[in-house]
Amino acid sequence: MDDCASVLDQHWYRTLDATAGFRAYMGARGARRFWHGYYNIKSIDHYTGAPLAIGIYSASKNEHTCYPDLFERLQRNIGGNPESIVADKGFSIEAVFAHNTNNGVASVIPWRKGKGRLQRQDFDTHDRHGIPRCKHCGAECEFIRFRVEKGGPRLWFRCLNQANRTPAACARIQSITCKTDYRLLLPLWRTEPIYHELASSHSQYERVHRHWRERYLVAGDNLATRPKRRGIGCQELRAQAALLAEWLRISWREGWLGSARRNKKSPARYASFGVTGSRGLKKFRIKAGLRVPYGQQAALLGLGEATPPSRRVAAPPGDPPDYGGVPF
Ligand SMILES: [Zn+2]
Repeated sequence: MDDCASVLDQHWYRTLDATAGFRAYMGARGARRFWHGYYNIKSIDHYTGAPLAIGIYSASKNEHTCYPDLFERLQRNIGGNPESIVADKGFSIEAVFAHNTNNGVASVIPWRKGKGRLQRQDFDTHDRHGIPRCKHCGAECEFIRFRVEKGGPRLWFRCLNQANRTPAACARIQSITCKTDYRLLLPLWRTEPIYHELASSHSQYERVHRHWRERYLVAGDNLATRPKRRGIGCQELRAQAALLAEWLRISWREGWLGSARRNKKSPARYASFGVTGSRGLKKFRIKAGLRVPYGQQAALLGLGEATPPSRRVAAPPGDPPDYGGVPF
């Protein structure tokens, strides 16, 4: 018989399933949610709304530590890397951003305050939204390209202000390594409408967990739906078998099974969300003083203040940390 004990918030728990774990989401008045068992993490395709990879992990692990394994399963199942990954705050960890960027994948993950990081900061090299600043005048820059090189991922950009007319200054293409700040310097910039379009699509995928409970009894969360066998192996087998069944069904429905028939429908777009989101961010950036040059070079040229906006004593009013819940 497997027997294992675990301690959580000074309480001891004993379980007969050594592969299961314990997790509690704590609130001000104690645990808001507590469970014994596993995580069931799904990586969902934007086109079909179906999972592309699934991983079952002990609930005692931190969710983000399961990410590299899930990413590997995803790579194996789709035969390469996705262009972008949208995830929730649980994955808003530097290691996850670094993993994605090093694989050339754009992260669309909400900002999470860390220990000792109360507010998003602007730096001389890049601002709080990850927009690089011109090395010669401190202005905003425009995206030129992103590439993963031998030395790591790198962004190339050009000054939008062109204020420093010294030869070989603002007009030249500049670059920065994403290692400088993995959480902010992303392959897909936060000012792009597509970033907001992707971010707004995330919430609809939570329903897939419920669909899969109903269709395949995967990730059962009560006595009636959970497997009667003990251990992670049974959970894993059920999930992977369901994945095969789901994709056979999708392939049949879409006419991909050796037939010339094709589903002529085009994927749903959320273009208006993207335009509204990026417009909102632009307004916010004007208000926060980010559209104006800052830094040592800006001060020398008389274009702006040397201190970055977020570090000024009287910070601009209305600086919500999460910008009204929209993940930037
Ligand atoms: Zn410049």
